[in-house]
Amino acid sequence: MAERTTHFRTCPLCEATCGLEVTMEGASVVRIRGDREDVFSHGFICPKGSTLRQLHEDPDRLRLPLVRRDGEHVEVSWEEAFAEVEQRLTTALESAGRDGVGVYLGNPNVHNHAPTLYGRALIMALGTRNIFSASTVDQMPRHVSSGFAYGGPLAIPVPDLDRTDYLLMLGANPLESNGSLCTAPDFPGRLAAIGERGGRVVVVDPRRTATAKIADEHLTIRPGGDAAWLAALAHVLFDEDLVDLGPAGEWIDGVEQLGAVFEPFTPEAVAAATWIEPDVTRRIAREIAAAPTAAVYGRIGTNTVEFGTLASWLTDVVTALTGNLDRPGGLMWPNAAHQKARKPGPGRGFKTGRWATRVSGLPEVKSEFPVAALAEEIDTPGDGQIRVLFTVAGNPARSCPDSDRMNSALDTLELMVSVDPYLNETTRHADVILPPPSALARSHYDLAFTGLSIRNVSNYSPALVDPNGPLEEEILSRLALIASGQGADADTRTIHEMMLGGVLAGVVGGDGPLAGRDPAELATELGDRSPADRVLEVMLRTGWAGDQFGAVPDGLNMEKLEANPHGIDLGALTPQLPTVLRTVSGRVELAAEPLVADIDRLRASLERDSSGPVLVGRRHLRSNNSWMHNVEVLVKGRERCTLQVHPADAGEWGLVDGGDAKVTSAAGSLVAPVEITDEIARSVVSLPHGWGHDAPGARLSVARRRPGVNTNVLTDASKLDPLSGNAVLNGIPVSVVPG
Ligand code: SF4
Repeated sequence: MAERTTHFRTCPLCEATCGLEVTMEGASVVRIRGDREDVFSHGFICPKGSTLRQLHEDPDRLRLPLVRRDGEHVEVSWEEAFAEVEQRLTTALESAGRDGVGVYLGNPNVHNHAPTLYGRALIMALGTRNIFSASTVDQMPRHVSSGFAYGGPLAIPVPDLDRTDYLLMLGANPLESNGSLCTAPDFPGRLAAIGERGGRVVVVDPRRTATAKIADEHLTIRPGGDAAWLAALAHVLFDEDLVDLGPAGEWIDGVEQLGAVFEPFTPEAVAAATWIEPDVTRRIAREIAAAPTAAVYGRIGTNTVEFGTLASWLTDVVTALTGNLDRPGGLMWPNAAHQKARKPGPGRGFKTGRWATRVSGLPEVKSEFPVAALAEEIDTPGDGQIRVLFTVAGNPARSCPDSDRMNSALDTLELMVSVDPYLNETTRHADVILPPPSALARSHYDLAFTGLSIRNVSNYSPALVDPNGPLEEEILSRLALIASGQGADADTRTIHEMMLGGVLAGVVGGDGPLAGRDPAELATELGDRSPADRVLEVMLRTGWAGDQFGAVPDGLNMEKLEANPHGIDLGALTPQLPTVLRTVSGRVELAAEPLVADIDRLRASLERDSSGPVLVGRRHLRSNNSWMHNVEVLVKGRERCTLQVHPADAGEWGLVDGGDAKVTSAAGSLVAPVEITDEIARSVVSLPHGWGHDAPGARLSVARRRPGVNTNVLTDASKLDPLSGNAVLNGIPVSVVPG
């Protein structure tokens, strides 16, 4: 029998970053459970975390590249696959030009440091502005509101869950999602602890979600009503003279202007549009103001609506007006270990619209375009039409609005190249599919989520098994070499040296502790690691907690991380004002002009007829967008892709539990099985996203047996939050009849 060994690593599957204990016999995983000694998760794990073995062993997971020949995807060697990309990209670029190339980056990229770092190399080599990502279907409003108010789209404050006395959550269901834009393993335990220390949790949601059930109070809100309701909370704070900025007030501008901005949003004025009674609105505003500490946290339900950016901004406004911004127990900014020590002072600020999409003129945001525009950029003829598409760990055929058009558009491409472990609903359109190694076969570090974490932690996981193929940085580097004209056979060390040189240049070129050092000499002090890990090593050693290449002997480095497989706790969050700010003024611009300018649109919406059913999404603990439905233990049991309908609505519309309903929106229609439940508000119906696994040509044998329906055939690609370009996926007007 092979030797039994135990290893510890961070779960890469969601934002919670739980520590896992992995028991192996030789190269085989025999057990995965929560790591009780993990400094952050303390043994917490959800049902997905233990399925890394099933994902690794999934026979449908691609081990070799696929190339489409005569309409069939066939396995080829890596050399053949890259040669095919080179030959076809060279031809395509001659006709389409670089403006005719698009890139789509999916959500898993941010759960993995190699593509986070090396995706840039591919984009630079392609030389295109047609960049799209999953950010504009779930979180771009949060980036934009932070960009305008704080000067940086990544300056996202998170609720200080472990110290708050009052948590107001809107459009968030962390008991199913395990948290989003708020990294907090064991979110359920942390919520329970708020109550145990005498605090209060209030959930605002059109569904009585699992999170709402354990909250002290659940308020049913009309889908899309969050921004108006938050504006009413702000109104009450001004009206009742409850505004007190606390210590952060020294750095906050614009408050005097906001009193007039929120004047029209009386609790009575928003009641019809939000379904929340005025006396409840007033009480909640007073409770937040009176609480010793409080945080307002809004997530996907507040972002994927037509006022997504305003709702994101207003969570911060209410928090700031009650003195809870940048304060223990309030909303605070994490300080990831790889971040450089920040200095206060003015920054360059944040702009959008520096360029625009070709067809609809939609503004650029954070150097990318709204993904809702991708299909029209592919299927609309003219100069700059996208004829070549690269997708990296993304499934736009399921995750983006107006899926029917997206599917048709993908079929018309001259060349499509996908970096993806599955032949799925999107990659079935690809000419070449390049599979990355499984999560167990690569090292792991959370560059993104340490920046969204409710404690400052650092945790590195080495690879556990042989990748049996190139690492992601090798795949992306090879594509970058092809895209830059150096050819498929060029040495990828060129790209690795460029990546490392770039990060070292930033370190020695500033006025930090390594200013003036020779980058080549620093490179010799790095460990013998994978290329992405060498870049990571520089970032960690030169971050605020780093050893500065020996200058700070007790600082963080890779050896210390490897010697601490349960992670290193760098402490609770600490106030970050003013150093976190990158606004032109160097201050919090709480009344930033683009945000205030959108208030009139919100005010006008209060007059609209809001009757008629609307569709919202929902999360499930055993799902993760579209890509984990091929794991038997996660999909077995009761049908989950159902249309939830309130009993009274079901009676009125002639629906029966378990029967079919036909749902129709302005964009399309589908038929889904009905689940009658009083957990959803009247006039609201709900479908989960990420389903619809019956596409011909996809190779997902487990998912195909329980395909579900694709809710994005109902979403309208022309409906966006104008400030962020985020798709409107919640609050979609629909009609529902027996199917
Ligand atoms: S909550 Fe997220 S990080 Fe934790 S085990 Fe589950 S999937 Fe992994």
